[in-house]
Amino acid sequence: DPTVISHVRLHNLSPSLLSYYRQPVIIHQGHMQWLFDHTGRRYLDMFGGIVTVSIGHCHPKVTEAAHRQMSRLWHTTNIYLHPQIHEYTERLLATLPSHLQVVHLVNSGSEANDLAVMLARLSTGNFDIVSLRNCYHGMGPNCMALTAHNTWKFNVPHMFGVHHAMNPDPYRGLWGGSACRDSAAQTTRQCDCQPGQCDAAQKYADQLAETLRYSCPKGRVAALFAESIQGVGGTVQFPKGYMKKAEALIRDHGGILVMDEVQTGFGRTGEHFWGFEAHGVKPDIVTMAKGIGNGFPLAAVVTTKEVSARMSEALHFNTYGGGPISSAVGIAVLDALEEDGCQEVARRTGARLLSGLAALRDKHGCVGDVRGKGLMLGVELVEDRETRAPLAAAAVADVWEHTKDCGLLIGKGGHFGNVLRIKPPMCITEADVDFTVQVLDEAFAKHLP
Ligand code: PMP
Repeated sequence: DPTVISHVRLHNLSPSLLSYYRQPVIIHQGHMQWLFDHTGRRYLDMFGGIVTVSIGHCHPKVTEAAHRQMSRLWHTTNIYLHPQIHEYTERLLATLPSHLQVVHLVNSGSEANDLAVMLARLSTGNFDIVSLRNCYHGMGPNCMALTAHNTWKFNVPHMFGVHHAMNPDPYRGLWGGSACRDSAAQTTRQCDCQPGQCDAAQKYADQLAETLRYSCPKGRVAALFAESIQGVGGTVQFPKGYMKKAEALIRDHGGILVMDEVQTGFGRTGEHFWGFEAHGVKPDIVTMAKGIGNGFPLAAVVTTKEVSARMSEALHFNTYGGGPISSAVGIAVLDALEEDGCQEVARRTGARLLSGLAALRDKHGCVGDVRGKGLMLGVELVEDRETRAPLAAAAVADVWEHTKDCGLLIGKGGHFGNVLRIKPPMCITEADVDFTVQVLDEAFAKHLP
């Protein structure tokens, strides 16, 4: 219906919803990597509803599974059980290391991280939580305090017992680290040290040790939270070896490790099914959301028997968590991920996209850094490559609007809002990759010559 825009009561919606495109984009339909607006115009969705549509919009397999379940049983609450929850938790656990044996099903990433905070506190008997600056762990009452990202601008005082450690960011941080990374990462950052001898991971780990020493001495810390690759923060990859050192430090201080896989899970990084596998760490808790349900509200906290043991002491209630429809959707998503070879698509198309973006960096001075893995990529735009001064918001918006006008939807993020985020459904083709690179090339040439 082309008249729909006039019917939309924009003033009835939260003002925070309207801060993206200059004119609201109204999406009526989706199919795999494609979205269609109210005029029928087609867009290539290279952001997947913020890294959420993992296997494709209205994927037939998932749609069919949801329909089937909807006509059978919608809801029970967790007073009763139903067969789908058992099948789903078994299937989910099969994707994870064997020490993770208990699944708590919830509805969003924020709920998952809030529950993870509670579990960490209950299981360790400690209160303090450490997260990394520039992280995003959600907007729930607990995880909002962990979130240390600039998108969260409200002047709410930080919650007692939450500490933010220095972010191990090779591009914006004090030290590099790309020399230690895979050469496939193709980032521009060069350290002063010799390849293979970069000690950025150690320097950042020393900063974490310092935070632990002064802010939450031994016996007080419950957990360290980290994303495998920071998502909202602008696709920030930590120097190789950092997470393993961080894991050792947190354990030594009596805390546990929580890996937030809300964006990096379900094969998105191409290399592994879970982002934390690339770090070689053994998390006590893994939180997941977004891609888990391909857009359907579903999220999970997966942990060990020991960590969840104290949950039996009291009722922890979640009306919708683990319902029949979300469980059926979760099963169908796991099936489709495997049948469609999504992780392989992420690896293959992601590598092509990364090299296409690296070529844009060589061509356009406005591209400061290109980074990421699989279909979790970031392009950091700068005023000046030498100083790395972030590109001003208005100029970023010009690029963003240009891409939309060409039928390409991408995301943005980073502390300064200057990182283009490309994280599409894992069903894109080589032609979609080439179109994305071509549109960005034109946008940079036109707006940032
Ligand atoms: N963790 C990460 C890494 C996220 O990116 C997000 C959402 N952007 C969340 C947690 C919170 O998820 P939700 O919006 O589903 O509450």
